[in-house]
Amino acid sequence: MPSVYIKTYGCQMNERDSEAVAAQLVAKGYTLATSENAADVILLNTCSVRDMAERKAVGKMANLAADVRKNRPNVVLGFMGCMAQSRGKELIDTLPDVDLVIGTQKFHRTADYLDEILAGKRDKVVDVEAERGSEAEIRQHLLFGNGGTSSESPKRAITAFVSIMQGCNQYCTFCIVPYTRGEERSRAIPDIVAECQQLVAQGVKEITLLGQIVTSYGRRDYPVQDGKSAFVQLLDAVHEIEGLERIRFTSPHPKGYGDDLVEAYARLPKLVESAHIPVQSGSDRILKLMHRGYTRERFLGILAKLRAVKPGMGITTDIIVGFPGETEEDFAQTLSLTRAARFQNAYVFKYSPRRDTPAATMPDQVPDTVIEERHARLLELVNDIGREHYAASVGTRQQILVEGPSHKNAARLQGRTRCNKIVIFDGAARHVGQVMDVQIIRAGTFTLYGDPAIVNLN
Ligand code: SAM
Repeated sequence: MPSVYIKTYGCQMNERDSEAVAAQLVAKGYTLATSENAADVILLNTCSVRDMAERKAVGKMANLAADVRKNRPNVVLGFMGCMAQSRGKELIDTLPDVDLVIGTQKFHRTADYLDEILAGKRDKVVDVEAERGSEAEIRQHLLFGNGGTSSESPKRAITAFVSIMQGCNQYCTFCIVPYTRGEERSRAIPDIVAECQQLVAQGVKEITLLGQIVTSYGRRDYPVQDGKSAFVQLLDAVHEIEGLERIRFTSPHPKGYGDDLVEAYARLPKLVESAHIPVQSGSDRILKLMHRGYTRERFLGILAKLRAVKPGMGITTDIIVGFPGETEEDFAQTLSLTRAARFQNAYVFKYSPRRDTPAATMPDQVPDTVIEERHARLLELVNDIGREHYAASVGTRQQILVEGPSHKNAARLQGRTRCNKIVIFDGAARHVGQVMDVQIIRAGTFTLYGDPAIVNLN
């Protein structure tokens, strides 16, 4: 059977989509190649959120066409995902070696299209149509562990991502996602719970619920019940699953943090003390121009409520610097919010104009040199605060879920604290999948080092 290599750009949602496509192909008898040089089919799962991500994927495909295709003319080349969705056939017009373009609502058709192309029944396929019910199709898993998609290195999967919805209705003025992922569509609670139960039966201990804005989950399908939003109803249902140790989710929207969600952290012990809450800016003026729907005061109020319930909460965020019209005063507000919020970590993005988004044509686009300089300043502050968080963990005892070998040094093991800090320690294979306590003995850059033996002696 043909072998497939999938390269993924972008966010966890794209990683999850790639995993589901790989699982679909394996179920059909395809094998997964360990490198593009050994593959009969090479698929690039693309990201459109910033221009750089698009350029990387286009550049990669041009190289594949020039190098791989030249020596092996029968190799099938394809684009999937967000850029495939937004550019469609235009991609084949600019890169004629591309055989397949699959949009974000068509991942489940990949195997059928590849079969047809490989059998010579079709030459090129472009499918970027919307498809009703496609949100329920991202449900197959590989479970090779650590997100790996290589059948040659099967490891036990301890953690898994579960897609609960597709699309976004927020229309932030900088963001291309509503145009590439479509309108918000949610899966049914029993369907999601069944997938989680199956994962747990296969040894998974931690599930991360995924969506563009998970806090908007099921708003049209499940009315508020006993003060609980549809998303909190879903958390309750997943929490019931016996054998599941931990629940995470990403990404929420700040305006989705009602009291029901804050209380869920107090009520549900499996919901770990960790939240990635994108703030984007610390300036109310810019937040309004971004169409975010909250103020800095409201955002800081949410953090205060979460920390009142769970003082050790690990809070991370996304911030964009250089949004059109951002002045030095606006940027100072972002710096001051970052200090006040004391994020455990933050992804700092340089604003990138995206096609069809309102911000791309707003006046006062910020020059690249200014964006670079603000990016460096904010990153330094984020790293300083992050270092303080990690240093403060030294000497404490932390509960970790052991995920498997460390990515940096396979002779050691890696686990994660409840507030999502990576902990490296010397352990044995039997520890993998265990929830255990370690004593933190040292902090590195966004990594902790632990010693379970010290705890055992106590
Ligand atoms: N759904 C999430 C939310 O609440 O906004 C985020 C999804 S997006 C894939 C991840 C991050 O990319 C965003 O939070 C934002 O910080 C960043 N991003 C989105 N559009 C961007 C743009 N045009 N330029 C720079 N960064 C951008």
